[in-house]
This record gives sequence, C-alpha cells and structure tokens, in this order.
Amino acid sequence: MSMQQSYANILTAVGEDLNRPGLKDTPMRAAKAFSYLTSGYSQTLEEVTNKAVFPSDNREMVLVKNIEFYSLCEHHLLPFYGKAHVAYIPDQRVAGLSKLARTVEVYARRPQIQENMTAQIADALEEHLQPKGVMVMIEAEHMCMTMRGVQKPGSKTVTTIVRGAFAEDFSLQQTFLQMVKA
Ligand code: ZN
Repeated sequence: MSMQQSYANILTAVGEDLNRPGLKDTPMRAAKAFSYLTSGYSQTLEEVTNKAVFPSDNREMVLVKNIEFYSLCEHHLLPFYGKAHVAYIPDQRVAGLSKLARTVEVYARRPQIQENMTAQIADALEEHLQPKGVMVMIEAEHMCMTMRGVQKPGSKTVTTIVRGAFAEDFSLQQTFLQMVKA
C-alpha cells in the first residue's frame, strides 16, 4: 500500500471526509513530508563523510556544537528535536567540519530513539576518522512527552556517549562540557 493511501486511511479512520477541500491533497503532501523526514535511510555515510577526510597533525579536541536536528521518535512517530554536540580528538586525520553536521542529519532523519542516535553518531565518527576519542551529547525535547502523555513542555532529555580518550580521561569530558556551555 502506498504511503499516500495509508495517510488517506488514517484520515478516514479519525472520521475525516477526504472530499473536504482542505484535505484534497493532504495524503500526498503528508506522504512527501514523511518521506523527507525519513530520508536518512537513503543516504550513506560514505557519501556524507568519506570524501572529506584530510591529513592533519592536530591532536587537540575538535568540537562542533549546537547542531540543530529534527527527528521522529520511533515509538510514537512524533518529533523530537534539539541540539547535538559532537567532538573528537584527531589521530592524523580530520573531517570537513560540515560533515559532522551532515552525519547528525543522516541519523536524525529516520524513526529514532535519542539514545541510539547518540551512539550511532559516535560509531560513525569512530569508523570514519579512527580518532583518539569521541564524545557526543544530544539535548532534545520530545513532542511525545509535551503534546501527549506527561505533558511537560520544556523538559529536555540529555544523552551522552564517550569513547576512547574521552572515556579514559575525565578531564576531557569536563573540557567538552565547558566548551559546550561557553
Ligand atoms: Zn515517543
């Protein structure tokens, strides 16, 4: 069954009249929107990252913070959105900075849970840069908590992943947190 037909069925199931003028193209538009919001499935990380890895002698932490993202919780298909902060300590190679944001996008644009998304971004960086360490932090508001359920607007869920040097050296984690807050 096409996604468009599925949206028509949902609207019918909630008692809507699909012939109502305002809904005429809604199943088609909703299907397009949902396809876009899940387009991360059709992007490969190779496309997104591999071509922008450069040799470097830099041994210091590289942090890209406040990467805005929009995702969908896989339990309710409602949005969760917020900011990702991604850091790594290079080992002879660095990534183009925009690629870190693109990596976040690839994993955000699909039904997700925040915990897995955090780990997937860290895994991707480890695999493609083989850095000395990786730390990823995601702060997000979940519409399934604010529009329904416990209805706590403004509450944020924070997840972090530390790998390599960040896991071994607590002071690196603190530096990361200070840089994120600065
Ligand atoms: Zn949810």
